[in-house]
Amino acid sequence: MSEKKRIAAIKGTKDILPKEARKWQRVEATAKRIFELYGYREIRAPIFEATELFEKGTGETSDIVIKEMYTFKDKAGRSLTLRPEYTPSIVRSIIEHRLYLQPDPLRFYFIGPMFRYDKPQKGRYRQFHQMDIEVFGEEAPAVDAEIVEMADYLLKTLKVTETEILVNSVGCQGCRPLYLKELREAAEKKRALLCPDCQRKITANPLRIFDCKVETCREAARGFPKITDFLCAECEANFDSFKAHLDSFQISYIVEPRLVRGIDYYTRITFEIISAKLGAQDAILGGGRYDDMMKVFGGPDICGTGFAVGMERLVSLAPFTREAEDFLYLAFLGDEAQEKGMALARFLRQNDLECLIEYKERSLRNQISRANKLGARWVLIVGEEEIKSGKYQLKNMATGNQVEVGKEDIIKVIRESA
Ligand SMILES: [Zn+2]
Ligand SMILES: [Zn+2]
Repeated sequence: MSEKKRIAAIKGTKDILPKEARKWQRVEATAKRIFELYGYREIRAPIFEATELFEKGTGETSDIVIKEMYTFKDKAGRSLTLRPEYTPSIVRSIIEHRLYLQPDPLRFYFIGPMFRYDKPQKGRYRQFHQMDIEVFGEEAPAVDAEIVEMADYLLKTLKVTETEILVNSVGCQGCRPLYLKELREAAEKKRALLCPDCQRKITANPLRIFDCKVETCREAARGFPKITDFLCAECEANFDSFKAHLDSFQISYIVEPRLVRGIDYYTRITFEIISAKLGAQDAILGGGRYDDMMKVFGGPDICGTGFAVGMERLVSLAPFTREAEDFLYLAFLGDEAQEKGMALARFLRQNDLECLIEYKERSLRNQISRANKLGARWVLIVGEEEIKSGKYQLKNMATGNQVEVGKEDIIKVIRESA
């Protein structure tokens, strides 16, 4: 026999195996439910798009575009890119289908994979997953506060504790330029302390120095001017109103002037929810306003706001207790019993009971031990005697109690014991 080469998963990707997938399903179902409660509707866009969509959307100076995109040519020579983030796709879709002309609210959510050719490290993957929510056409800071409140509610529902909400305003086209000038000057003075990457950012986009995780850069950035000291009157009023709404929701937050986010199109309010349990990569969720984005894409002048949640991080933080599930293992002995058992299993499944029947020949004892290993709550025994009498032994695996029941009563007994 020739030696077959074993093919492994690509570096930076990971399989989500069934036990883990249950957690994902639970987190996703909870999130979908909550987003729907707030008037959001799901939108699904393709995984790949024209490369220029992301070059435009994430800003051509962004690290993501320069270093991390999965870009390739298809057979027709077009340049395509696996999406590194979701917002550009949503914006493209809204413009393409003119969703802004519909009477529906422009509130969308989305869950799916994203791709970045990042250095693989603990908890970071090249295919990672995000949940995004986006609202368009709502200018009032009340909606930003509502979004933060929704995010907070989601985390509380998932029992994610020890979180902190950080908020900031990055100003507007009117007040940011002056701040950037001051920031550049301050950064220039500390040039020697900055890493090579940050030295480049001084001219390209000094706001991104705040994203750097290198300790000397962080230290230097602590002394930089704060954007909140440079806000124009309108931006300040906008930020105050946002904070007042959070106060009336009784949501506590910390104003963090270094929270500027790494993408060009953000304006005014930005926020992040962090967890000390995540270490240096501490953000579970981040978002804010991007009022100029639709215009950048050639669409109408419609403002936007939203957030993105890292699913890997969220799933790792949400405690998972398998809810008591009525999972029944059907054990049978002999061909005739198998036939009867298959009919019974079908009946139970059609009555919404999770039921497993395995066809490999095993002794009764063996089957009960399998049921135990699989975590079945119930075992239903179908043997010759049972077929004759039409009564089956139903065993509760937790208590060890066994009762004799007819077909019609199986569901009843199980439901009543819940
Ligand atoms: Zn302003
Ligand atoms: Zn740096």
